[in-house]
Amino acid sequence: MANEAQSYFIEAVLERLDARAVITDDREIEPWISDWRGRVHGQTRAIIAPSSTDEVADVVRLANQHRVPLVPQGGNTGMAAGATPPADGSAVLLSLRRMNRIRSVNAQSRLAVAEAGVVLETLHGAANEVGMRFPLTLGARGSCTIGGLTSTNAGGTQVLKFGTMRSLVAGVEAILPDGSIHNGLSALKKDNRGYSLDQLLIGAEGTLGIVTAVALRLVPAVAARAVAWAGVETPQQALELLRFLEARTQSIEGFELVPQDSLELVLRHIPSTRGPLSEQHPWHALIEATTSDADHDISGELEHLLGQALEEKIIADATLAANEAQAEAFWKLRDSISEAERAEGQTLAHDISVPIADMPNFILAAAAEVERAFPGVIASGFGHLGDGNIHFHVRAASHAAPGWYEEEGAAITHMVDDLVTAAGGSISAEHGIGQLKRDEFARLAPPGRIHALQAIKHALDPLGIMNPGKLVP
Ligand SMILES: Cc1cc2nc3c(=O)[nH]c(=O)nc-3n(C[C@H](O)[C@H](O)[C@H](O)COP(=O)(O)OP(=O)(O)OC[C@H]3O[C@@H](n4cnc5c(N)ncnc54)[C@H](O)[C@@H]3O)c2cc1C
Repeated sequence: MANEAQSYFIEAVLERLDARAVITDDREIEPWISDWRGRVHGQTRAIIAPSSTDEVADVVRLANQHRVPLVPQGGNTGMAAGATPPADGSAVLLSLRRMNRIRSVNAQSRLAVAEAGVVLETLHGAANEVGMRFPLTLGARGSCTIGGLTSTNAGGTQVLKFGTMRSLVAGVEAILPDGSIHNGLSALKKDNRGYSLDQLLIGAEGTLGIVTAVALRLVPAVAARAVAWAGVETPQQALELLRFLEARTQSIEGFELVPQDSLELVLRHIPSTRGPLSEQHPWHALIEATTSDADHDISGELEHLLGQALEEKIIADATLAANEAQAEAFWKLRDSISEAERAEGQTLAHDISVPIADMPNFILAAAAEVERAFPGVIASGFGHLGDGNIHFHVRAASHAAPGWYEEEGAAITHMVDDLVTAAGGSISAEHGIGQLKRDEFARLAPPGRIHALQAIKHALDPLGIMNPGKLVP
């Protein structure tokens, strides 16, 4: 029956959209039905790839008519398998990648309007051409899309200063589950007509509608940046350093925590890397300061402040990148941690947040508890300390069997999620819930929160055709 409905739906789509918008060849479908980490595999009969807002609206209306669920997909770089179709083939993939026009970039209004399929790096380039910057970036910038970033409320390394997508999206154009068009692209600064549909769609992971275009806030382009590496004794000292710097300058926009163990893994597995400091330190902070003012001596300022921090014994040592190549090399050490862990062996990743002031103690206490409960594993946290968000990773013991991930993974994740919840934190800081975290979300979220989510979902999508099985328990 489901198959029959899908056949009628696909035929109806073909009658309205050109042939390029309907992909049914298995070889072309294959790369898009597994998640980025290759752990979750789905099935689908077709990928529908419309090229305009009106075409998306047509597709959603037809999906309604034929009761065919849609799984929206951008770059498929999501970390929660939200864009992976169900394994039973009951849904059709809706790819937004052909909607890839930048409709406008305006330095005066400090806004860009980009369609859902625009790749983040392309937007960066377009903003740069008019002397502006879209201040959100992350490792997947060469493939992730504006629609996906909006739908996951993505973060990245500049959240400290500019916030997540929620702060950077000025308005959303989307097709609601009944096929109607919501147009929030006029990006009004003040608009108090009740509930904000734009905000509801940000982070909805495709469960409330299809994002077709987004108005995005721009800031002036960077004139200069300074990147430094500091050695500290504890995560608490790293946080003290951040607060020390923030009290003296507005320029800090990146602040990443790196444990010695992670640095050693990178130095062992990633070619052409070397530690920035001559001596070992238990913890490290990677600091980036930027300015849009060409006359501002940003390097001098950061060097001076780090000298003061050294005198006040907040840090044990620090070095400033001498040039852009060295700055990139410092960032490479941070960005290669996951890759180095993969080369070392099996690792369980948790993208979590707790209140910032509690994070230093949380990292140490949670790591000790997990290591006590699962002898041999190595637990630690690295990442966006200033956002109260770290990647809490647990590495298998060196003697662990190949099936460790499947056998012990769930129990370890259970424990980590319990500790995070007890600390008043979130089991998903950046990556969303998708299908990977849905059970844990259902287990741990307060009933009121789940009820509100279900009520909103049901009110807007009564037929349940928008990305079923994702996010909402
Ligand atoms: C190397 C690497 C580094 C990363 N670093 C970070 C990081 O620092 N911070 C961070 O937050 N994330 C990070 N991510 C995760 C990922 O890049 C983000 O989640 C990104 O927002 C996903 O964009 P996408 O276009 O690939 O979306 P997809 O993976 O295609 O989809 C993600 C979710 O959004 C939905 N969706 C996609 N497009 C639409 C649309 N147009 N309308 C409605 N729903 C839609 C999908 O159904 C799915 O639920 C990283 C990923 C990788 C591979």
